[in-house]
Amino acid sequence: MIAELFDLVFGCHHSRYSFPVTIRGSARRPQAGALTGTYVACLDCGKEFPYDWQEMRVITSRTERQEYGAALATKHAG
Ligand SMILES: [Zn+2]
Repeated sequence: MIAELFDLVFGCHHSRYSFPVTIRGSARRPQAGALTGTYVACLDCGKEFPYDWQEMRVITSRTERQEYGAALATKHAG
């Protein structure tokens, strides 16, 4: 129950991820990779998440994704 709720809010509560995959030049462009150009897949549930090479971390929460989108928009504007 708690885990399900956590899943709903944060997308995934697991901690084992595949090696980051860069999608530039790739035919397959998953939604998860659109944000940073790199994504990882959860080895437990198979969900895909954006991965930030600079920060060396997986972006799992919706809030983080929104912050990322805002940051990218700012970069493009400037
Ligand atoms: Zn998972």
